[in-house]
Amino acid sequence: MLRDIERVLLTGEQISERIKSIAEELKKEYEHKNPLILCILKGSFIFAADLVRELDFPCTVEFICASSYGKSTVSGDLIIKNDIDFKVAGRHVIIAEDILDTGRTLKHIMDIISAEKPASLKLCTLLDKPERREQEIKADIIGFEIPNEFVVGYGLDYAEKYRNLRFVGVLKKDVYSG
Ligand code: 5GP
Ligand code: MG
Repeated sequence: MLRDIERVLLTGEQISERIKSIAEELKKEYEHKNPLILCILKGSFIFAADLVRELDFPCTVEFICASSYGKSTVSGDLIIKNDIDFKVAGRHVIIAEDILDTGRTLKHIMDIISAEKPASLKLCTLLDKPERREQEIKADIIGFEIPNEFVVGYGLDYAEKYRNLRFVGVLKKDVYSG
């Protein structure tokens, strides 16, 4: 697994430090609002799990399973695999996403959530690749801005692999173009 990684972009320690500061930022605004942390599966499961454990105030957690078709390094057609069977109306929603790339996934999800009339809606993404943006969408909180390279680890996959790496690394090109 490790030999498929070209280089480490963010170490586990760097990520965990950044998540602590994001949690402090969220506390200022949400401490008394019982926010709903919306984890976008699968890629965000580790980020959301680490983030909520840094929050020392009440919150709830829900999940949306979004996926683009196939084993691909480009964003394909998006499908949402589960119903939104939790109440969004009147809630302060914070979307926890792994990576904002073209913005298509988040645009779609934010439109769906907005339609449910939350009291507020914020987007918190661990990684942002601004170079590739197609949709006009800006995250309210960004963990790290990264260059336009395909990364894996810390929840992010290629063909469902590498999610269990503790760090975020650039995948060797010959792994997906070979
Ligand atoms: P967007 O819709 O913003 O183009 O893409 C967002 C989704 O594409 C992410 O949630 C993720 O699943 C996937 N994605 C985009 N860039 C990368 C990347 O560098 N690595 C991995 N593993 N997935 C990515
Ligand atoms: Mg994702």
